[in-house]
Amino acid sequence: MDFKQFNLHPKVQAGVEAVGYQVPTPIQLQAIPPVIAGQDVLGLAQTGTGKTAAFGLPLLHRLADGVRGQVRALVLAPTRELAEQINESLNALAQQTRLKSITVYGGVNINTQIKKLKEGADIVVACPGRLLDHISQGTVNLSKVEVLVLDEADQMFDMGFLPDVRKILRALPGKRQNLMFSATMPDDIRRLAHEILCRPVTVQV
Ligand code: AMP
Repeated sequence: MDFKQFNLHPKVQAGVEAVGYQVPTPIQLQAIPPVIAGQDVLGLAQTGTGKTAAFGLPLLHRLADGVRGQVRALVLAPTRELAEQINESLNALAQQTRLKSITVYGGVNINTQIKKLKEGADIVVACPGRLLDHISQGTVNLSKVEVLVLDEADQMFDMGFLPDVRKILRALPGKRQNLMFSATMPDDIRRLAHEILCRPVTVQV
């Protein structure tokens, strides 16, 4: 079993080979087909399981052909460290495409971020607070977002980001694919999943 079974866009498959992944992990085997099919997915998986590529590869597959430089995918993460990790993985897997992922989070100069956003990005990996600042200042355009990923949703909830996440949701087009990953599934996260996801496929490792 290798990555060819997914029939990823050739440039995305080339990225997988460049990064050196040979065998898909269990979460990748389960999540990639429904995400490619356009379904909403709820993934129960911890960091270290390969969940970034589980949502990242079908995301890049979807974006690989089409208009560049407008934000078509938004990934929300609870911490800068996670946002940086996701961004690095996405850019590595996207190296044979012309797709670009950038990060948006607090604690760094907002003008540098505004400049990066102006230069154009296909994917934004963001922490909720700073993204909201950009939304209220009109320095990010989220009107073309087709896919939303909520990563480490349980941590997002624990850190009190839920009200911010809800505000961000209101700035996104209603018609979009939603992917949510969480290491645990307490009631609050289950409710949030119910609220955000449309008939999700649940995958679990
Ligand atoms: P993640 O759970 O997404 O943080 O990934 C954990 C680590 O596994 C990262 O260093 C990835 O680069 C690596 N990884 C993800 N998928 C695979 C794979 N199919 N084969 C080998 N390494 C992988």
